[in-house]
Amino acid sequence: MPERKTYIVEHLDPELGPWSELEYLTIAKETQQAGGAFVLSSLPSGFQVPAKLAEEPAFKAEQRGVEEMYPAGNGKERVCLLDPSAEKDLNPEDKREFDVFLFGGILGDDPPRDRTSELRNKGFQGRRLGPVQMTTDTAVRVTRMVVDEQYTLSMIPYLDMPELKFNEHESTQMPFRYVKGDDGKPIMPEGMVDLIKKDADKSIDDLF
Ligand code: SAM
Repeated sequence: MPERKTYIVEHLDPELGPWSELEYLTIAKETQQAGGAFVLSSLPSGFQVPAKLAEEPAFKAEQRGVEEMYPAGNGKERVCLLDPSAEKDLNPEDKREFDVFLFGGILGDDPPRDRTSELRNKGFQGRRLGPVQMTTDTAVRVTRMVVDEQYTLSMIPYLDMPELKFNEHESTQMPFRYVKGDDGKPIMPEGMVDLIKKDADKSIDDLF
């Protein structure tokens, strides 16, 4: 059983937007610190990997889909799909069960559209990270805390649906679960709050 775990995000959206780019950069950096590998799979040929992401040592771009990388009888049974609809929750024992953790490369949506089903239908074993939808980088962070750091899901401090205050008058509520940082704030990719604010300002401008 390799100690070095692999975290795969299967690219399912038509393009990689700025939100996903920040999330993937964070996953790459944190995975590097933890001594793991981060693969973005199922990339269309000619896909332009953002330069900052390509520079991260733990990161690998992969054109093959996860089924091709881990076929039945040759690794598939060691792949765990993190699936909000799985019957069993992820637990520290799963460290022994799995080498690869698979996530849907989908931006969160409210209400969730269950696009993780595209991966569930391929027959991977699934584990849930509790009942609340997380952003993809949060889902990878929580998985790593359970698998590497041996937290149980109930030991992890969360912040659900946090309100981001931009100034006295502007705020927005994020419809996801995050891990609570030492500063009491939700852990988010660097630059994400600015991006959310910019997007919020844009939608207000679009109303006029
Ligand atoms: N709305 C989504 C959908 O259509 O399935 C959830 C997308 S979520 C932002 C991206 C990925 O994070 C999911 O595909 C899943 O792998 C993982 N994820 C998020 N919350 C999870 C949870 N509570 N349990 C298990 N996996 C989760």
